[in-house]
Amino acid sequence: MLMSTKSMGPVLLLLAWGASCSGEDPASDDSTASGASTSDSSVADSSSSSSPSADSTTTQSSGADSTTAGCSVVGEGPQPGQFLAGSLISDITEEPCTLADGTQTMCYRIEIAGEPSNHDVGPYCPRSIDDGPDDVGLWPDSGVLHDVDGAFVTDLATFYNDDTWQLYDPVTGDVNVTDTQEACLAAAMPNAPEEYLNYCVECTIADVGGPVSDAYLIPIEPVASDTPTEIEEIPPGVSLNGVRIEFPANTEIILAAYNIAPLDDCGGHVNNGIGYHYHESTGCVAGVEQCDGHAPLMGYAQDGYAIHEMAAEGGEEPADLDECRGHTDDLRGYHYHAASGGENMFIGCFRGVLVEGVGGGPGGGGPPGGGAPGGG
Ligand SMILES: [Zn+2]
Ligand SMILES: [Zn+2]
Repeated sequence: MLMSTKSMGPVLLLLAWGASCSGEDPASDDSTASGASTSDSSVADSSSSSSPSADSTTTQSSGADSTTAGCSVVGEGPQPGQFLAGSLISDITEEPCTLADGTQTMCYRIEIAGEPSNHDVGPYCPRSIDDGPDDVGLWPDSGVLHDVDGAFVTDLATFYNDDTWQLYDPVTGDVNVTDTQEACLAAAMPNAPEEYLNYCVECTIADVGGPVSDAYLIPIEPVASDTPTEIEEIPPGVSLNGVRIEFPANTEIILAAYNIAPLDDCGGHVNNGIGYHYHESTGCVAGVEQCDGHAPLMGYAQDGYAIHEMAAEGGEEPADLDECRGHTDDLRGYHYHAASGGENMFIGCFRGVLVEGVGGGPGGGGPPGGGAPGGG
């Protein structure tokens, strides 16, 4: 059974989209966003009054009330008040910063909690080949998120056309699951040791000593770059519910050890160095709805541009996205749209200039149990 990108967190999504936008149609087609913006002067007015520059002299506290934030127009650049309550470990502050192109500017320092403020995490691995799709997480392959249920586990040799796959005990039906921090780390490493081949790999937040908070320095006013920056091993950004948005998982390393490292239904899992993080956008963030029916805001990229869901509920992906998965409209300026669940990515590249040094450190965080925290 395959996961649909719209099948997760329906209660949360309904709450978010129904919170404060009465009279508007949140399900209207995403592609009409620009047209709608010019026909609603009240929306346009609120855009100018909440621009990033208007906020730049005050430090806003974290965790704005989602009812008041629900229908606001966000403008270009991060809006501290849009983060969900409980998603940050400290108030967002401002400080001088230098961008990679030498620009001296001001940045927000955003310290995320490192675990989602609005949804539970897991499950990941099945314990038995009798486990159904509700008991397990997801594995991305070829653009599709597969439930890692008993049927998937028992079909792996066929799925990958390799008889070495044997993730379970054929007598008992028990699935091999990493059940210690050490096992989780070892099984996800390149060239995993022999004893950790054919494992379902999972770490829990408790395994890694609790949520891993992380501070991000993000330009208050994004600066467009002449040449986009490749994602490579730079975490794309942060979600409004306090989770690191990670660069694409290196599934080849996992598969090379005949291992599967599932994501939960929200597209996240836990890594030894960086804690819980997202690799897929599956609609769990409960982001900020847009009164013109545009796809909800779900986070911010490290270059300062907003990241929206791929589409509004019932809508389609915008047709005019660039290679970074961004486009521009009158209300929001330049912003990204997350890739669909299964694509193992959020944005395609950074259109804006990053803060100097971001992404310069060692990578990690692709597979669970990987290296140290990356840039940010
Ligand atoms: Zn858009
Ligand atoms: Zn990961």
